[in-house]
Amino acid sequence: MRLSYGLSFWSTKGQWVTNLSQPCLRGSSGLFVPPSPPLNPEKVKEFQRFITLSKKLLVMTGAGISTESGIPDYRSENVGLYARTTRRPIQHSDFVRNAAIRQRYWARNFVGWPQFSSHQPNPAHWALSTWERLGKLHWLVTQNVDALHTKAGSQRLTELHGCMHRVLCLDCGAQTPRGALQERFQDLNPHWGAEAQGLAPDGDVFLSDEQVQSFQVPSCLRCGGPLKPDVVFFGDTVDPAKVDFVHSRVKEADALLVVGSSLQVYSGYRFTLTAQDKKIPIAILNIGPTRSDHLACLKLNSRCGELLPLIDPQ
Ligand SMILES: [Zn+2]
Repeated sequence: MRLSYGLSFWSTKGQWVTNLSQPCLRGSSGLFVPPSPPLNPEKVKEFQRFITLSKKLLVMTGAGISTESGIPDYRSENVGLYARTTRRPIQHSDFVRNAAIRQRYWARNFVGWPQFSSHQPNPAHWALSTWERLGKLHWLVTQNVDALHTKAGSQRLTELHGCMHRVLCLDCGAQTPRGALQERFQDLNPHWGAEAQGLAPDGDVFLSDEQVQSFQVPSCLRCGGPLKPDVVFFGDTVDPAKVDFVHSRVKEADALLVVGSSLQVYSGYRFTLTAQDKKIPIAILNIGPTRSDHLACLKLNSRCGELLPLIDPQ
């Protein structure tokens, strides 16, 4: 399984780093959202019917739901990170094995955190939270690590790939809030931050080798072990117990709605296979093709934040 996210991307050329949360909200959130056709009223009606008929709806979300909050995805044509940059996510094995790589990762993550953590839910997140409150939602599964569903109040939620807002000790497994780590970074690097504010025109942050090497990375307060964001990096696998849990929720559901995911990553795709196996109808809301379009009874190429708030969950 291959996954990704995080604040930092290795550049093939050196030390430039993408700040994922580069503001793009000058009047609209369109920078990272692929173009989509106008809403088709007939399709909206069909979608409303799909939602109305379901009494135990499982929703699975991906990066496409957060692009309208200003967080770019990876795979969208022209606007995704893969299309716009040469940067690629960090590999799990590199992070675990190499202290220098962890130091560079955390230095960049420290710089990007204030913006990344400030992103807010958009109308699509709020709609799903409302559906839960009104009893429409059986369970919500997200591939995102941005905490936006939690910020919108969703509770019946599995974060399949973890969450950037938590930190994990690689040795003892202790979980701590990422916000608290930011304070420890600041305490250990009181003069470092001021030097690291060189923003390039495209929002990248330049960190020299000297800056990275002088960056002090705190370790676990309980055991002194190395810290890692509580997310599944590329090359790592999702906890099997979590996968089993989601499979169970899918089997209990009477409909599956995929929102903002191309399902290219197997960790999400497999749940559509389970739904198909159990003859659970699938609807997909995503701009652009997905790996499971052929399994879906309904496919909508619309903006999540435009369409979901139009649907009456009752
Ligand atoms: Zn520890």
